[in-house]
Amino acid sequence: MKILIADDDPISRRILEANLLEWGYELMVASDGLEAWEILQKPESPNLIISDWMMPRMDGLELCREIRNMEKSKYIYFIILTAKGEKKDIISGLEAGADDFLTKPFNQEELKYRTRIGERVLNLEHRIMELANIDSLTGLLNRRAFMEKMEQEMSRTQRENNSFSLILTDIDHFKNVNDTYGHQIGDLVLRRFTGQLKTLARPYDFLGRYGGEEFLICLPGANGLQAASTAERMRRQTEDMEIMLPDDSQSIRITASFGTACYSVESEKDVDSLIKRTDVALYMAKNKGRNCVCNSNHSELGKGTTVSFNDPPNEEA
Ligand code: GH3
Ligand code: MG
Ligand code: MG
Repeated sequence: MKILIADDDPISRRILEANLLEWGYELMVASDGLEAWEILQKPESPNLIISDWMMPRMDGLELCREIRNMEKSKYIYFIILTAKGEKKDIISGLEAGADDFLTKPFNQEELKYRTRIGERVLNLEHRIMELANIDSLTGLLNRRAFMEKMEQEMSRTQRENNSFSLILTDIDHFKNVNDTYGHQIGDLVLRRFTGQLKTLARPYDFLGRYGGEEFLICLPGANGLQAASTAERMRRQTEDMEIMLPDDSQSIRITASFGTACYSVESEKDVDSLIKRTDVALYMAKNKGRNCVCNSNHSELGKGTTVSFNDPPNEEA
């Protein structure tokens, strides 16, 4: 686990560093509050901070207040170090949002166990976030978490005048899989299907479970054409995939239908309208005979939506 130390006193900093390194923590070090604040703006920044109170430029209390005001999905555990041991100082530290405090000069064991408490709280937080956001069967984002992330992506796209696209896919005749092989095999198929979707997604794409056997893939920065070609690759890979039963007795093949839509800044105000377009395209793909990709092309405002079909349906589907 990574810890950020913020302290202007080099000796105190070195003692903290030596101890924390010995206990196996990774460290980032700042010599005042502002530097710590800058480190926190970077991706992969630590979630546990041990910060001195009195520092130039930005003191520990200000740093803590700034952190509590910032929009961040992960919790930051804040331990404030202080020579001030009085009750009213401790209270103002807690009021600023600190989780714990240590009085200087600190006792090594106390530092160790208070750090461990922070680590435990963060692990619990991580677990809770996982339970709240992740679909346990497929490991993808659940519908609510996906929608939340998509809202953020949409705001960013509006700010940066960029594009992003959405793919909605649904396994064809999945009910037959359950009816023929049972629900457990159905679950296995869902995992294999989503596993292979992931292999075709780029690192910044994200996937979510929209419903039972329906999945969404958000492609930040991708235009309609790119989304259509990704969906087509996913469709082909699905068709080619052999899913071996756990007892090796036979393998199952499935197909899936895909709908895609590219977000249009001028006409779309919310994520729901984009999902709706993607859903219409998927519905078309089902109607065209399944195992195919349909793309929703947003024409000029007021003229509605057209859906194009970019791959002939598989004759056997
Ligand atoms: P279509 O090609 O029109 O999509 O047909 P379909 O059979 O795939 O669609 P339908 O909506 O009729 O059936 C979906 C099935 O998915 C029914 C439901 O029991 C099954 N299902 C939904 N969630 C799960 C799940 O978590 N595990 C399993 N095994 N089955 C699920
Ligand atoms: Mg289906
Ligand atoms: Mg369905």
